[in-house]
Amino acid sequence: MARVIAVTNQKGGVGKTTTCVNLAASLAATKRRVLLVDMDPQGNATMGSGVDKNSLQLSGYDLLTKRATAAEVIVHVESAGFDLLGTNGDLTAAEVELMNEIGREHRLRLALNTVRDNYDYILIDCPPSLNLLTVNALSASDSVLIPMQCEYYALEGLAALMNTVEQIKETVNPNLQVEGILRTMYDPRNSLTLDVSGQLNEYFGDKVYRAVIPRNVRLAEAPSYGLPALKYDRASKGAIAYLALAGEMVRRHGATRKAAAAAV
Ligand code: ADP
Ligand code: MG
Repeated sequence: MARVIAVTNQKGGVGKTTTCVNLAASLAATKRRVLLVDMDPQGNATMGSGVDKNSLQLSGYDLLTKRATAAEVIVHVESAGFDLLGTNGDLTAAEVELMNEIGREHRLRLALNTVRDNYDYILIDCPPSLNLLTVNALSASDSVLIPMQCEYYALEGLAALMNTVEQIKETVNPNLQVEGILRTMYDPRNSLTLDVSGQLNEYFGDKVYRAVIPRNVRLAEAPSYGLPALKYDRASKGAIAYLALAGEMVRRHGATRKAAAAAV
């Protein structure tokens, strides 16, 4: 059964969508079955995966309003190597329509439960705010992966995010874990980056991925071709960094499973 991971950070522009598309492609390249769910009405993950958000027959809106099942909305994207549950601006209307519905926080979880067995990983791209769409993503997830830039206010933002995770645990999803913290747009020549990075390691230890994502122009260019960096320029530093992240993630899960089996 798939591990469901929400890629989240209430800050915009930290690399959530870039991480979703490129991690999805990298996990798929290691022969994992991957579904990417776009929960941001901006539809950047949809476009970045090579699907035109304006020509979607069915989308996240139809899923959350129960007009369609997950199986009906999901498409396979051959060029990217993974499946996509695409979204566009219509998703904003779903938020409004669900406002008075009982169980509105759990719509995504219930919908994804029907396809969980078909995948090894389900990644959910979140919008940059704590709205009903994000709460749906966090309710549906086993864990959160937090991309962050190592800049001055990052640690403050991270503290706020940890607070949110605690609140979600108390209310809609007691089992939510922190999957890992990913340093994005990493520049080791910048002393502030190294400072913040050091503090992160101190507070969060093992939760901080060893793999770091450098600032790399190929990662910024690839979405305009509707491709993950791996398919756009497989030798680029960005593509290689996301492959390393996928490897680290898969190894971590392998180790956890082995430990669990040994404990039985
Ligand atoms: P978010 O989804 O958190 O808002 P994005 O993934 O859309 O963030 O990234 C914000 C912008 O930064 C985009 O234009 C993206 O192409 C660019 N970007 C993201 N990660 C990198 C990186 N490692 N190197 C260079 N540009 C990046
Ligand atoms: Mg985004």
